[in-house]
Amino acid sequence: MDIPFLDMRPALSQIRGELDSAISQVIGRGVFVHGENLSSFERELADYLGAKYCVGVGNGLDALRFSLIAAGVGQGDEVLCVANSAFASALCITSIGAKPVFVDITPETFNMDSELARKKISGKTKAMVPVYLYGNPAGAEEYAELAQEKGIALIEDAAQAHGAAVGGKKAGTFGLAGCFSFYPTKNLGALGDAGAVVTGDFELAEKIRMLRNYGQKNRYEHDLEGFNSRLDELQAAILRIKLRRLDGWNSQRRKIASEYRKGMRNPKISLPQEQPGAHHIYHIFAARCRQRDALQPHLQRAGIQTLIHYPIPAHLQKAYSRLKLKRGMLPNTEEACKTVLSLPIYPGMPAGHIAAVCDAANSFG
Ligand SMILES: *Cc1c(COP(=O)(O)O)cnc(C)c1O
Repeated sequence: MDIPFLDMRPALSQIRGELDSAISQVIGRGVFVHGENLSSFERELADYLGAKYCVGVGNGLDALRFSLIAAGVGQGDEVLCVANSAFASALCITSIGAKPVFVDITPETFNMDSELARKKISGKTKAMVPVYLYGNPAGAEEYAELAQEKGIALIEDAAQAHGAAVGGKKAGTFGLAGCFSFYPTKNLGALGDAGAVVTGDFELAEKIRMLRNYGQKNRYEHDLEGFNSRLDELQAAILRIKLRRLDGWNSQRRKIASEYRKGMRNPKISLPQEQPGAHHIYHIFAARCRQRDALQPHLQRAGIQTLIHYPIPAHLQKAYSRLKLKRGMLPNTEEACKTVLSLPIYPGMPAGHIAAVCDAANSFG
């Protein structure tokens, strides 16, 4: 049996007709950037999340770095971040000349440890960028409290947490800005690149609107040295359709997670835990195993494709050798990188595949 890590076709086939007609309407209208679909998607995403403003941008990395720039972070400022994430979660800081201050994670949630974060705050700290890794929003309230208390900007990396919530409040609405990526494989994914920032701060939203469009306030008037980072009309039209299905697709992922929990009983493999009040949306279902490097080929032999999120933490990447950061400085992060294994999970995953993953995991000895 061939069990892929991810297959987007079952979800897409449910909306294929709607997608085709939306794409055809965009072509018919002849407006391809900064049009009606973008402004409607921004309104609809803001409403879905319970945010005041939303600004669409070209990708998740730009959502993060535009938020930092707009929050006043720049050269030499310190920003708290985590190392076990997509590289963008650190690159958003270093690409604007700021200094990443890596904070270790709590092993139960894989998210930034807010107590350790508190200890890393210095006079130069301007912001913190925690990540809701794998779709688990645990810690959001603590980050908001800490940021408030210390007077730093909370920029939430919610690029894996579309629709996740703590106590009913959506991930991305706890801080100054919530950043999303709509990379195709995300729970809310475009058919190409896209991203967005949500915020309750009008000025911040306006600044990001300028940053995405060459720093223009009015046409041909450049108040800022901006960027070119557009969420185009085709992607916006596609995202509007997919947003209406997001909750349903997230519940399918949660159901698969609960079936994994029921069906897997191998003392060598531990499964992700949910924290009370935290609505996890399982962008990734990351199991943990001391013998991960034997488990992965064992599953592969059963035809099961798995991935590792993430094998190399950001502080040990070659790109950051100039920062001279040492192995051992983030023990929980480094341990996670050695032991996590992401199992297949996606809306429309066949029941037979779920059972086969459980069987193969249970037979690992
Ligand atoms: C995907 C992702 C990003 C980056 O998004 P892009 O759209 O690829 O730029 C940032 N942070 C996290 C946690 C992600 O998963």
